[in-house]
Parts: sequence; structure tokens; C-alpha cells
Amino acid sequence: MLGGSGSLNHMVYARGFPSDYHEWASIAGETWNWTNVLKYFMKTEHMTDTNIVNNPELMVYHGRGGAIEVSGTNEVMFSIKKFLQAFEELGFKTVPDMTYPNSIGAGCFSHTIRNGERDSSLRALLNNANSTSLHILKDTFVTKIIIENGTAIGIEAVKDDKTFLFYADREVILSAGTFNTPKLLMLSGVGRSEHLRSLGIDVVADLPVGSNLHDHAMVLAFLVADNGTCVSDEAENSMEAIKYLYDRTGFLAKADNMAAYLPLSSSEPTVPEFALYPTCIPQFSPFRSGCLTLGLNEDLCTELHNLNQEYELVTIAAVLLKPKSRGKVELNSINPFDDPLIYAGTFSEEQDLDHFPRLIKMAWSIADTNYFRSKNARVIKPWVEACSNLTESAWIKCMSRAMVTSAWHSVGTAAMGTVVDGDLKVLGINGLRVVDASVMPKIIRGNTNAPVVMIAEIAADLIKEHYSVSRTGTNLNNMTIGNLTASSMPNISQPNINLADVIENNDMINSSLIEVEITNVEIITTTDRQSDIDDTVNVA
Ligand SMILES: Cc1cc2nc3c(=O)[nH]c(=O)nc-3n(C[C@H](O)[C@H](O)[C@H](O)COP(=O)(O)OP(=O)(O)OC[C@H]3O[C@@H](n4cnc5c(N)ncnc54)[C@H](O)[C@@H]3O)c2cc1C
Repeated sequence: MLGGSGSLNHMVYARGFPSDYHEWASIAGETWNWTNVLKYFMKTEHMTDTNIVNNPELMVYHGRGGAIEVSGTNEVMFSIKKFLQAFEELGFKTVPDMTYPNSIGAGCFSHTIRNGERDSSLRALLNNANSTSLHILKDTFVTKIIIENGTAIGIEAVKDDKTFLFYADREVILSAGTFNTPKLLMLSGVGRSEHLRSLGIDVVADLPVGSNLHDHAMVLAFLVADNGTCVSDEAENSMEAIKYLYDRTGFLAKADNMAAYLPLSSSEPTVPEFALYPTCIPQFSPFRSGCLTLGLNEDLCTELHNLNQEYELVTIAAVLLKPKSRGKVELNSINPFDDPLIYAGTFSEEQDLDHFPRLIKMAWSIADTNYFRSKNARVIKPWVEACSNLTESAWIKCMSRAMVTSAWHSVGTAAMGTVVDGDLKVLGINGLRVVDASVMPKIIRGNTNAPVVMIAEIAADLIKEHYSVSRTGTNLNNMTIGNLTASSMPNISQPNINLADVIENNDMINSSLIEVEITNVEIITTTDRQSDIDDTVNVA
């Protein structure tokens, strides 16, 4: 579908924490430092979560007026209230904003939801782009980047069984995600020379494409509890469904995913290293298919399914946010329609596994809190044959190795610093940029969608900056809206539109996108915020 994972993900709004971007800046330059990326997070965001909007201390870090709505809810599900209470009993502070950089705890996330519906980059940005220069070819499968004499000049793609070549005026921007971006680069001769040669591909650039694959590692802990633990009132829940279907209101119009963040140690109390994501699964849920989708083994899914016929299930996903382990993506063959080979590499570094006894025991301790104790919650230790007869900590490590899954946040296979530079340009190739999760040199401490949108916003500015400077030969950064007429722009021939008139015409600005052609220079803005218009015009 259009929009990639943003069109199907859980809509949790997270950004990572300042220390993540200190790391990026040390690898890829100051464009990626916390202060700068924060500006771009705030630029895309229209924060409406009242838990945050009404708190000036939190709002310092949030934006209003950006394209993507980030909303919240005060009407959380019964089970979420109970989990928050349980975490409080376990010593976690309840926090109103899971993105707040100065303290961490347990709380509900904000979500990219507008009027009860997903507000992804597709819906908030692409669907609203009213541009004559944007063309989308649906059902078109890119098979290769055409690189000639070290310059990317276009792409090869297949649509309706026909092969087309598309040539780029200026550059090719690759955004095929953490698995398919490296695949396309490798099919085009950009990758580890040994691997490419083993498949008979001519090497255009020898780069560690596909290496550095990593993701948050996730292991589920299981409890069972009496019926009624998760659901407060069936009738009330049916009413909520009716409210949603009628006018997109009620708690189903919002999402209330929550987590508890834990630091590595008390010496870094504001830097989360781990997260616990609890879920309550009512009796007779269609749990088995979800369990199998997670990649868990059939016997285990059947065992849990059978328990769910009698009890309610509580799962607590214990997640390692900053894994050291690395995997890789490789080509399976030179056939572009073959999926790449994905070696997750999870727990290839033993240190990652060492954290799990503490994490899983913390998850289990939910059973010992007031509410869950009153519901006779007890820990279920799934039968894993290879792990029998071990001490508890050894059992947890063994079981974690057997049951670990992806948290759907894979990154790093065309990383800044090794495959692309800080401007996201592929090293050693002209005219080729990568803009997606693959460029993250190290995973951030949180869900990855908003950081991908932030990367895209920065890329847009880098691209505008690059072309305006090189094509006019003049740095226009000092221009202001007040003196903005094209005649005042050095080296640009007289346009037929006075930009100042356009900018002052709010109706045009609010119509969401302006495209003005001044000889070859295009100015595109999708914002009505004065500061953004200033930036856009300055770059142009
Ligand atoms: C199930 C799930 C739940 C998630 N939940 C959350 C969440 O709640 N919050 C959060 O912040 N993050 C979440 N994420 C992660 C987040 O959605 C992703 O990190 C992010 O969307 C990745 O964006 P991307 O642009 O790098 O790649 P993608 O979203 O994967 O986009 C790549 C696009 O390229 C297209 N493509 C690939 N190859 C080709 C080709 N050869 N030709 C043409 N097109 C091609 C794909 O079809 C796709 O549209 C979740 C992810 C998943 C899978």
C-alpha cells in the first residue's frame, strides 16, 4: 500500500531521547544533533494531547500547526488504568508525556491520530500535496538504480510486466525501507564487493550495505488471571464500538498504548534502556493467529490459546531499546523479485541477553501487585524443551533466545557514516540519496516512525539547500520576507510573480501548497507557519 509501514503501524508517537541524537551527531555531523532534530520533530507535529498541551513545561518540546496530528486520550481502557497502578506500586513514576526528554516512567503514548483515524505521513502529507510536479506510480516495482560512471541517473522499474526506465534530472532518492533499500543498492552494484562478486554483480561502490541491521529485541512474558481482569463491562465496550462507528468518538477513536521505561542504572535515570509494554487479552480472544504472526512456535501458541479458553492472558513485552547485536541483509539472488535474506543477528552479542532475567522478572512482578493479585494472576512459563532443568535466570535466558522477536523497528542497513554521509548521499556515488529508516546509524530509544518523518523533513531541507546554493551560486540565507522580490535575488532572472505578494496572500498559503516557478527555481511550502515560510523562502 502507499505509505509503507506508516500505513499499518500502531501509531505510537515516540522520538527517542537526546543521547540517541548525541550519538548520531558524533557519527554524521551536527545536522543530527538533538537541538536540530527537535526542531524538525516540532515542525511536523500538531500536538493536541491535552495531557501535554495544558502543561507549558512539556509544550516546550512540542509543536502546533505541523501537518501530522499527535493526539492523546484521558479515556484509557480499564486494563491500562490497572497497569499504570501496578507500575506505580512497582516504583515507576506515572508520566504524562512519554517523549519528555528530562524524566522517564510509565505512561500512555500519544498517537498519530486525527478525528479517530490514522494520521500517517501518507494521509497528512502525501494525500494533501497539491503539486503538479509530484507523480506517483502505483503498482510499480523498482528493480534497479541505473548508475553510470559513478552517477545515479535514474531507475529501472516494472509495471504491468513491462520494464520502464525513468531518468532523473537531478538525483535519485531511495526510500524503500530497511530491507529493500539495501536490496536495491546491492542489485545496482553498491554493496560489499565480496558478496556482490559472489553473485556476479559488477561492483560500483564497495560499501557495507546491509550490515548493521538491528532492531529492538522483544521477549514476551506471560501471566494468566481470572476472567474480568481485562474487561470491565461488556455492555460499556459495545457502547464504545457504537460511538466509534457513529461519529468517531469514545475510547476506540483514540489509542492508549502504554509502556514503562527503565534506565540501565540509577546513574542515568532519564535515559531509558528497556521498555515493558503490557497487554491484557480477554478470554476467548483470537490470540493464536496473532501469536503465530509474531513468529512464535506453534506448540506455544496452542498452549496459550488453550489457557485463554479458561483464563485471561496478560502479556508483557520486555524490550531492549539499545541492542549491541547486529545482523545483516543480503541478496538471495540477482532476481529483483526475490526477497532479500534477513539475518536478524539478535543476541549475537551475549550482553544483550544478559539483561533479560532482570527484565522478565520485573514483568512477572506485575502478578504481585494489588489488583492483579486480587485477580489471581500467576506467571506462565512456556515449555521450551531445550530450556528444561535450568535455574531460573538461565531458564529466562534460554527461553528469551528461543522466543525473541522483532519489535518492528529495524534500522541501520544503509547507515550514516558508513554507507551514506550526513547529507544522506551514498558515499562515492553522485546523485543518489537514501531517506528512510535504513540510514539510522544506531537505533533510537523508542518507536521509529516519527524519527523517519524527521529524517525526511531534514532531507527535504538538505535537498533544497543543495540546489539553491549550487544553482544560483549565491547563499540566499540572509534574505527576509520583507525584501523578498525576485529582482532582489542575485543571479536569478526576473520571474513573472512577485513572491512577496504570494506570501502575503494568506488564502493561497492556507490552501496548503504553493508552487511558484521563477525560471528554474521552485518554492514549495505546505505550511501556514510564518517561521517555516521564512525558512522556505530563505532557502529558495
Ligand atoms: C507492524 C508494525 C508496527 C509498528 N508500529 C509502530 C508504531 O506504533 N510507532 C512507530 O513509531 N513506529 C512503528 N513501526 C515502525 C515504523 O512504522 C517504521 O520504522 C517506519 O514506517 C519505516 O519507514 P521507512 O520509510 O523506512 O520504510 P517503509 O515504511 O517500510 O517504507 C518503504 C516503502 O518502500 C516500498 N518499496 C520497497 N521496495 C520497493 C520496490 N522495489 N519498488 C517500489 N517500492 C518499494 C514499500 O512498499 C514501502 O512502501 C511499526 C512497524 C511495523 C511493521
